[in-house]
Amino acid sequence: MFTCRNQPCGAQWELSDVVIKNEGQGLLFRCPMCGARNKVIRHDAPDGTVTYEQDNSIPPKSAQ
Ligand SMILES: [Zn+2]
Repeated sequence: MFTCRNQPCGAQWELSDVVIKNEGQGLLFRCPMCGARNKVIRHDAPDGTVTYEQDNSIPPKSAQ
């Protein structure tokens, strides 16, 4: 579960709801509701499973 960190938004999304990509500053997803960038951290498990964890250490950026 991811939470949009754009304050007035705060929408929650499942991994299947968002597209995770690298726009040059690390992996992120854009909130489908407001377009804000939310950083994520990729984890590769030993069995090849890839999971993503929201990175809450960096302040959110607006869609601008
Ligand atoms: Zn949002």
